[in-house]
Amino acid sequence: PTDLNALVDEYLRLAYHGLRAKDKSFNCQLTTHFDAHLGLVEAIPQDLGRVLLNLYSNAFYAVQQRQQQSSSSYKPQLQVSTSRAEGTVEIRVSDNGMGIPESVKQKIFQPFFTTKPTGEGTGLGLSLSYDIITKGHGGSLTVTSQEGEGTEFRICLPDSLVHV
Ligand code: ADP
Ligand code: MG
Repeated sequence: PTDLNALVDEYLRLAYHGLRAKDKSFNCQLTTHFDAHLGLVEAIPQDLGRVLLNLYSNAFYAVQQRQQQSSSSYKPQLQVSTSRAEGTVEIRVSDNGMGIPESVKQKIFQPFFTTKPTGEGTGLGLSLSYDIITKGHGGSLTVTSQEGEGTEFRICLPDSLVHV
């Protein structure tokens, strides 16, 4: 049984502070909303942690990219939330970064697909994440994105994994 809220929060701090240790000038507003009624979830914490780390680092990368191309009024933001919806437990990771063009969106879950320069991305993060969520937990991993505005990834885990 995993405390999902704690896991989501812990890895967020880890990812953000890890990045800021390397790049002190990087600032991103973090907004979290945790559903207090989530309860414990039957999940593999190390695997879910890897998924979260990848979603967070992709999001931070996307806001950094946008920041480099924007005026100084742009403020990087990352919103993370958990909620209990009908039949599912949801984790949303939402950034106001570069966004994903329609033609790219179709490929992001493919192994080795990356738009990052050599050495900065392996292209394995989302394909691994997809397998962990779908095959490993019976859930779903979906994306909505608006180019130039931002991106939201949504993890849905089946309600059956929730301890009552
Ligand atoms: P990598 O991070 O090594 O490139 P991933 O599988 O994690 O590999 O992501 C694949 C691609 O999906 C990225 O190269 C990028 O083009 C796109 N992507 C993923 N997350 C985001 C995001 N939050 N905003 C914009 N693009 C993203
Ligand atoms: Mg990645």
